[in-house]
Amino acid sequence: MKTIKNRGAKHLGKILLTILLMLVPAGACALDTLHVEFMNVGKADAILIRTGDTTVVIDAATNSMGKEVAGRLAELGCDRIDLLMITHFDKDHVGGADKLIKAFPVGQILMPDYESDSKQTRQFFEAIDEYGVACEPLTENRSVDVGPLTFVIDTANESDYGKNEENDFSLVASLKYGSIGFLFTGDAENKRLGELLKEGVSHHDVLKVPHHGRVEKRSASFFEAVSPKHAVITSSQDNPEDTAVVEALKAAGAHVWLTRLGSVIFMTDGQYLDVVQTE
Ligand SMILES: [Zn+2]
Repeated sequence: MKTIKNRGAKHLGKILLTILLMLVPAGACALDTLHVEFMNVGKADAILIRTGDTTVVIDAATNSMGKEVAGRLAELGCDRIDLLMITHFDKDHVGGADKLIKAFPVGQILMPDYESDSKQTRQFFEAIDEYGVACEPLTENRSVDVGPLTFVIDTANESDYGKNEENDFSLVASLKYGSIGFLFTGDAENKRLGELLKEGVSHHDVLKVPHHGRVEKRSASFFEAVSPKHAVITSSQDNPEDTAVVEALKAAGAHVWLTRLGSVIFMTDGQYLDVVQTE
């Protein structure tokens, strides 16, 4: 009796599977859920992007927050970082990178192409050497495939932005997942925003607002061009965002999220977009 029952169940399973396969149109490929988490790490950037078993990290927060970023990745069940992108070498972006390299195998590191000498940058390059991680300074715009994800990365047009203007070397990355677009802008300032506008920056659903919400002459026109539904500002209680930036984002139709009030997590299947903010 038991054997017959099992056979029946197996048979039914096969029929159901056949029906399900018939319901999926030829060539259609279901997307896994994409999670994009903007961590609450003070006035610093740490963005965790995950789908299936692919993990990408954009910026690694400060030296003191590096452990927290590594801890969060472990909590999420990540056992490697496929791509670590450092937008530029300021301590609130590269500071924790050495800790991530020590904590996880890293497939590939991408960074901008300019000279920077600071304690945090030295620690970063020492960790790269010690662990033999493949790294590439980007000299021109290009697409990078990581698992099922494709990042279109825009590099700085100039080789010199003047004294103390490292922010304008920020790599800017666009990620499209199904019909949902994310734009990550590092700490781009006015000149860099001008480059992006000239290159025809287009609509993205989610914008990582440049430079922790500092206002620039071109902020409003940049927000208009991107016309995001959601804008994330990585500010802190001690260094809050400029109110002019929040107003310009709202005028462009965006819902504004501040990481100083909690990490902001987006989830999408490529069609629908959900967002939650942690306490
Ligand atoms: Zn910064």
